[in-house]
Amino acid sequence: MEQRLQAAIRNIPDFPKPGIQFKDITPIFLDPELFRDLVKRFAQEYKKYSPDAIVGIESRGYLAGPAIALELGIPFVLIRKKGKLPAKTISHTYSLEYGTDVVEVHEDAIAPGSKVIVHDDLLATGGTAEAAGHLVEKCGSTPVLFSFIVELNFLNGKERLEKVAPCHSIITY
Ligand code: 5GP
Repeated sequence: MEQRLQAAIRNIPDFPKPGIQFKDITPIFLDPELFRDLVKRFAQEYKKYSPDAIVGIESRGYLAGPAIALELGIPFVLIRKKGKLPAKTISHTYSLEYGTDVVEVHEDAIAPGSKVIVHDDLLATGGTAEAAGHLVEKCGSTPVLFSFIVELNFLNGKERLEKVAPCHSIITY
């Protein structure tokens, strides 16, 4: 499956800014067989952690995340950027290279004491996933795994996340 994933993921030069090679994962979801195999692969991996919920990071964490949650029969929880969620939220502010950003979750979305898998499409520096992990902790729950389709190894995000929970990705560049 790694080969089929690698063939589907394409490099987009100079997106969103000059000098950046963006990994476009959207073609995976144009291939139902590959998408289905990806979901089954993640579900198999996640079972080891007996998770109570999967949280997905806006917005590409919402592509495979809900399908994996459905496969495992557990809740899928949305983590969003500030001001997007309609009901009462818990938020976490984190540092970026320049400035700060905020992630939020509905305060009643994660049952306290849950074992939670944090899912996103791609791991770069790890800042986004780390913030999501802290948000899960603020909800009184535990991140048990950080999970990605793709990891950009040269940015060392994994070392950063493994201080909190193990890290799993299917494709590494
Ligand atoms: P980090 O916080 O680990 O530096 O960045 C990861 C976040 O940025 C993820 O939410 C991911 O969706 C997005 N991201 C950064 N670079 C890429 C990329 O090359 N391709 C995709 N698909 N997402 C990216």
